[in-house]
Amino acid sequence: MDTLRRTLLIGNLKPLAKYFLYYSAPRCALLRLATSAIARAFRPHDRNLPQIVRDKIDIITALERTIERGLDRMHLDRRRWTRLFDKFSDVLSEGRSTAQEFESKHGMPPPGFITLSPTQVCNLHCVGCYAASAPGTKRSLSYSIVDRIVREQKELWGSHFTVISGGEPFMWRSEGRDILDLVANHPDTFFLIFSNGTLITEKLAARMADAGNLTVAISVEGMEAETDARRGKGVHRKILGAFAILRDAGVPFGISITTTKLNIDTLLTDEPWNFYLEQQGALYAWGFQYMPIGRAYTLELMLTPQQRLALFEKVWHLIRDKHYFVPDFWNCGTATGTRGGYLYINWDGEIMPCVFNPYSVGNIKDYYTNGGSLTDALFTPYFVAIRNWQQHYIYDHRLDRAGDPESFCQSRGSRAADTISFHYGELISRVVESHVAQGQAHAKLLSQRRGSSSRHRPAGVRNFNTDQILSAEVLHQCDLTFKANPSVLVSPSEHTAPCRN
Ligand code: SF4
Repeated sequence: MDTLRRTLLIGNLKPLAKYFLYYSAPRCALLRLATSAIARAFRPHDRNLPQIVRDKIDIITALERTIERGLDRMHLDRRRWTRLFDKFSDVLSEGRSTAQEFESKHGMPPPGFITLSPTQVCNLHCVGCYAASAPGTKRSLSYSIVDRIVREQKELWGSHFTVISGGEPFMWRSEGRDILDLVANHPDTFFLIFSNGTLITEKLAARMADAGNLTVAISVEGMEAETDARRGKGVHRKILGAFAILRDAGVPFGISITTTKLNIDTLLTDEPWNFYLEQQGALYAWGFQYMPIGRAYTLELMLTPQQRLALFEKVWHLIRDKHYFVPDFWNCGTATGTRGGYLYINWDGEIMPCVFNPYSVGNIKDYYTNGGSLTDALFTPYFVAIRNWQQHYIYDHRLDRAGDPESFCQSRGSRAADTISFHYGELISRVVESHVAQGQAHAKLLSQRRGSSSRHRPAGVRNFNTDQILSAEVLHQCDLTFKANPSVLVSPSEHTAPCRN
């Protein structure tokens, strides 16, 4: 696979490949060849977990068909094809050796990507927004910090994929620049930008098309009724307008859906999938099950285990049988997880293991001020504890049950047979265990860097935002709710685990 990539996209045959792959038939043939090469490469790694291998192959096949569909639909003229090809080969040509160096130095692969929220500001005020975003907030990162994070991600980890979340990324301005300046400044990184879609204009879309190294995922909640109910009246109409603008400009786009108790019934039908993926030209869909964090968090919006299982079956049917790239962040963890995982940095600079795990191990601005880097966060006690837990949970503890759907992620994953209290109990115990060690490690780091003992109070793992806290009280309330309301009780099931992240 590496040889194929080097030969065709990076090496001497690049001009020929650019010409040849402009046409649909040879392009499809090459993509399918690449897919089977990737599929073969997975086998030795995961030979003890055959279900995971199957899932990965299925999701890669769906991705390959999505790329085929996207390129066919975009009807690129020669000029745009050339630009896209050059950008894509730029992204592919970088990073591999840096990642290998990182792995030999640290004994583990670097994170595959970063999710960054440059701003909490948003023009909408959606029910249960995970980021508690609103027009009035002022919390944003500076352009220089965001730019440095993306640069370090490449230079230290060889990672060339950055996910931008929010707030609304198209509202972010800093130092006279915006998110598309960042994209243009990193032509060898591919950006996935989550947006509410309401601010996308022809002018903005032309800049996106010009950059070429991005895709936009626009949030919908189902059809018009569900979308407007959560996001505000008239938002769905604006979103359809944004789709039209992006289609005309030739910008690849997809959708993003938060699944709640209120929209699950619609999402279990074929209607939204046909509408967005076939009629509107969305190439992919990312699903996120509602989690009780952010604005006015509530257990009431969370899926029941039965709904979660039904969603699991629906999504995997769409991936396997229709080859749609529609991963659900929780239900498709076996397929979408990367070896080195990922991390999240919010609008204040707080570094967390996951968007939905609101426990910070430190602030990137402090790291930079004290001569540190992104990599320091990876070796904080909390991150280490999570990695050890994952290793134990997936590969050691449950290896004998290979083939069962498994839970990959401490912060997100839980088996249907596990109660939420068990799940968050695991999370909170790791936060507590890591807190003391984190404080000691932080103090040591600062004193080493400054050559003297730190004036600063050692930082432990901390909740960065009282609006986004899964505290012991919430956990306690979860338990009370289970007892009071058997319908939310997670019952043992033959399908032991719809969640695989
Ligand atoms: S869910 Fe997205 S669009 Fe809605 S308020 Fe939050 S950040 Fe803004």
